[in-house]
Amino acid sequence: MSLPQELELLLPPEVAYDELARYRALLDAAGLVPGQADFVHLRKRSIDARGRQPLVRLRADIYRTVPPADLFGPWFQYPNVSQATRSVLIVGAGPAGLFAALRAIELGIKPIVLERGKDVRTRRRDLAALNKDHVVNPDSNYCFGEGGAGTYSDGKLYTRSTKRGDIQRILRILVQHGATSDILVDAHPHIGTNKLPSVVAALRDSVLAAGGEVRFDTRVDDLVLTGQHLRGVVTSTGEELTADAVVLATGHSARDIYELLHRRGVLIEAKPFALGVRVEHPQQLIDQAQYRRQDRGELPAASYSLVHQTQWQQRQRGVFSFCMCPGGFIVPAATAPGEVVVNGMSPSRRDSRFANSGIVAAVELEDMDVRQHGALAGLRFQQAIEQRACQLAGNTQLAPAQLLGDFLKKKTSASLLETSYQPGLVSVPMDEVLGAGLADRLRQGFQNFGRKIPGYATNLAQIVGVESRTSSPVRIPRDRDTLQHPEVRGLFPCGEGAGYAGGIVSAAMDGERCAEAAFAAIGTK
Ligand code: FAD
Repeated sequence: MSLPQELELLLPPEVAYDELARYRALLDAAGLVPGQADFVHLRKRSIDARGRQPLVRLRADIYRTVPPADLFGPWFQYPNVSQATRSVLIVGAGPAGLFAALRAIELGIKPIVLERGKDVRTRRRDLAALNKDHVVNPDSNYCFGEGGAGTYSDGKLYTRSTKRGDIQRILRILVQHGATSDILVDAHPHIGTNKLPSVVAALRDSVLAAGGEVRFDTRVDDLVLTGQHLRGVVTSTGEELTADAVVLATGHSARDIYELLHRRGVLIEAKPFALGVRVEHPQQLIDQAQYRRQDRGELPAASYSLVHQTQWQQRQRGVFSFCMCPGGFIVPAATAPGEVVVNGMSPSRRDSRFANSGIVAAVELEDMDVRQHGALAGLRFQQAIEQRACQLAGNTQLAPAQLLGDFLKKKTSASLLETSYQPGLVSVPMDEVLGAGLADRLRQGFQNFGRKIPGYATNLAQIVGVESRTSSPVRIPRDRDTLQHPEVRGLFPCGEGAGYAGGIVSAAMDGERCAEAAFAAIGTK
């Protein structure tokens, strides 16, 4: 088989995003005419907005003979493990849990996935109740339920954890389960909240088809410990389940799990995290700033990534944008009544009129009351601010908000802007929600960002509180090599909730690693 001809070129968006025009431009650049190439494989697509006009950079391979079958999939097969002699309990059906289950199957182990929430479609009803009636179901919400916190999200699939696993493998598994193959090509791939549920359902179907189990409405409430060996778990229905290993992938919002581990004497540690607000702008303002045109045309809704070092009472802390959702919505991400938490999501087309992003400040151990709360210090810090946000906004899911220009001037906002946050907003001075230290750091950050993006730090934007579930405030330690808890055999802390991932792809990669570690520990009979 002859090698493909590799090409890299910059094209105007109207050519790059039109399949036929792009095909012609690529052939033209290769000096070929239609009929001379068997297949054009797009390898990478990114936007270059540095020049006067934004352009799209494409990398493509042109095959003049039949391309290798590996380009198209299916790439993965899942053997039947219903009769396997080894089994693993996987607590949580987020990306970490689902990918751990699929990897366990590949390795010949039967996974039994326990999920406190509902299947991905039924879960929608609870999200509607949260948005319209302000009812928070503590087992089914934007963080809990099949697919985990990443399901009703933006579905961004980029990660900085490039050394922790094979990103392309994770993306291919998603494509094999129904995600668009664009995610294998785009520099900043994303799936979108409208497409994610069917991908999640397909991942579950693969687990079931291979003889694995997935149990919904099954919350883990206790551990079956024999000395320092975890043999299984006790569920909310009172059932005791045992297996050869337990992968604990319960995410960063499962506060009852941290409390349970603490109560049962399983070592956990407080860990730094980040907390702040979500800022919402008209998408057009961001498009104009990034692309220097009012109408973005074929280009995707523009995004940004910002960071600034701040100083407050001799302590340096980073303030940075987090989980930016172009063309998206702000959503209520609380997991218990009496707290207000916000996060962001967007549909695959990213076509809402709003751009939102978390803007958060680092919270280090010295910012928390570790002396009083020990390992749960970060969790208590987070919880106190979420509860204050709820109280100050009237004890519903209305979120406290302030115009950004007013926040910078420490002035209460007389009125607020239109918002994508469905439950609604209430004008509250955000200093009262966040406390002086955090508010001051965020002010320094916003002032700096306003110098980078024209119009950013003005009353054309508003901030909404609180963006508190950025990462886990607790770490469940594990041995570097075996990935088992250093004191409890059989326990594999996994994913974001254990402190080893941040985002869908890194959680999925960690899930795979934990399944491999469990396999190494228990093998197959
Ligand atoms: P989770 O996804 O949190 O999954 C944990 C699962 O465990 C949940 O399903 C939960 O119900 C279950 N569980 C908890 N306790 C128990 C128990 N006691 N018994 C049984 N089950 C239990 N990341 C990105 O990379 N891109 C994005 O665009 C993005 N957008 C987001 C938008 C929103 C609204 C939110 C909330 C998060 C977003 N994230 C995004 C973050 C991402 O979702 C998480 O990093 C990722 O889901 C973590 O995966 P995980 O499997 O470790 O945990």
